[in-house]
Amino acid sequence: MSIFAHSRNEEEIEEEEEEKEKEEKQNNDDDDDVAFEEVNVSFACEDCDYRWESSFESDEDADETQYCPMCGTANTTQI
Ligand SMILES: [Zn+2]
Repeated sequence: MSIFAHSRNEEEIEEEEEEKEKEEKQNNDDDDDVAFEEVNVSFACEDCDYRWESSFESDEDADETQYCPMCGTANTTQI
């Protein structure tokens, strides 16, 4: 019956791992809730001095290069 005992142990280990995964997923959900808060960021164009505001789902999205809606340059700064 050693084989049966062995497979039982494996099942118990898998159950433990599943519970750990659930805990990790719950933690990740908390992070996602924060990320879904909209972030309003103002930009200024260095070339034509146009200023505008954009909303992003996270700070990381706002860090990406923004193109001026007026002249299309990537020479913009976050203000
Ligand atoms: Zn511009």
